[in-house]
Amino acid sequence: MEECYLCYEVGALAQGLRAPASHAGGRWFESITPHLRRVVVLGGSGSIGQQTLSLLSTFSQEYRLVGVSVHRQLEKVYPWIERLHPEWIAVTDEEGLHSARTTYPHLPLIDQSALYEKLATERIDIVVNGIVGSAGFWASWYALQNPAAQLALANKESLVFGGKWLEPFRNRIIPVDSEHSALFQCLIGEPPESIEKLILTASGGPFRGKKAGELAEITPAQALAHPVWRMGARITVDSATLMNKALELIEAHWLFGLSAEQIEVWVHPQCIVHSMVLFRDGAMKAQLSSPDMRLPILYALSYPRRLAFSEGRWQPFLNGHTLSFEPVDEETFPTLGYAREALRRGGAAPALLNAADEVAVEAFLEGRIGFLDIFRWLEWSLVQPETLTSPSSPQELEALEKDFRQKVRSHFLGV
Ligand code: MG
Repeated sequence: MEECYLCYEVGALAQGLRAPASHAGGRWFESITPHLRRVVVLGGSGSIGQQTLSLLSTFSQEYRLVGVSVHRQLEKVYPWIERLHPEWIAVTDEEGLHSARTTYPHLPLIDQSALYEKLATERIDIVVNGIVGSAGFWASWYALQNPAAQLALANKESLVFGGKWLEPFRNRIIPVDSEHSALFQCLIGEPPESIEKLILTASGGPFRGKKAGELAEITPAQALAHPVWRMGARITVDSATLMNKALELIEAHWLFGLSAEQIEVWVHPQCIVHSMVLFRDGAMKAQLSSPDMRLPILYALSYPRRLAFSEGRWQPFLNGHTLSFEPVDEETFPTLGYAREALRRGGAAPALLNAADEVAVEAFLEGRIGFLDIFRWLEWSLVQPETLTSPSSPQELEALEKDFRQKVRSHFLGV
């Protein structure tokens, strides 16, 4: 190994922070940045993944992209691969990996099991989990087996599915979901016993103010037009049914260790206050910013620091901008009640509620069922006997969840 005076001067070699091998690529400056944090991005083709990759590119003097995963759509991360040169790229879908190996033979491609091994054992500082759906649980699980890694968690299903198993690692999870990031920021320095309530804010979705009668004819295109946030298809439909907020209630329960009764939801259509905490002395703290997911992602990457970022600023206080809050119309949007009931049942109930929602949203997007049918499916699912079981391992829950999806499909669609 060649000696390098720059590395020598900052003692980077002595500390074993980085080998100087990257000089060859003309990126020698990395060798002398002692705090370059090693980041893995999971779900790189999704909305969170793409925004994270763009931040890593903006802050390349702070972060090094170690690895990135996609399920299938490698072409979506390819421009970032060329720019950020990760050490490996995981394609978790078997067929996807096969075709990626043909299209991109020069890339260091790995499969799902190699990905899990790397998450658990490689030198990684931060794993950003932006995977969509309950498939994200295992990635979170393996990342948390790695004692050095922090999990920047955007995949709310990780906690909805397996909160019981992830809870012991809570102090290494930094939430990326904007509401939970807000709560996390409000709670810094506050002892747990001083919290009275968490107040999650909700945009109310595109159908705020509508009654059930008006929702019957909603089309997938209408449900996909979220008034504020730009997100993936499933989460956008979940925002329209308020199921997204229901999942966030469950997520908050596991992240902050509070009961369902201590978590309220207020509709706040402007999406500027991302959530609030009510303390037992009556004081409230809120976190405000423009509705830009890059902010909570950047915070999760930089915590406990804050990096200078001039985009996504919010200035309308000076323009007479109004912030309003109203209660959720739980009669029209009954999903929050489902979440509370799932937590009350405990065990498999939250995971099965989420599974039923994934199946229902898929059927809705395919035009096979109406908007209100989603509620009907969820209500039915919640009272099935499986929701009262308490699997002893995530593997057992996974098997149960798989059977349950099939049960939901065959009950409602006859397939
Ligand atoms: Mg959210």
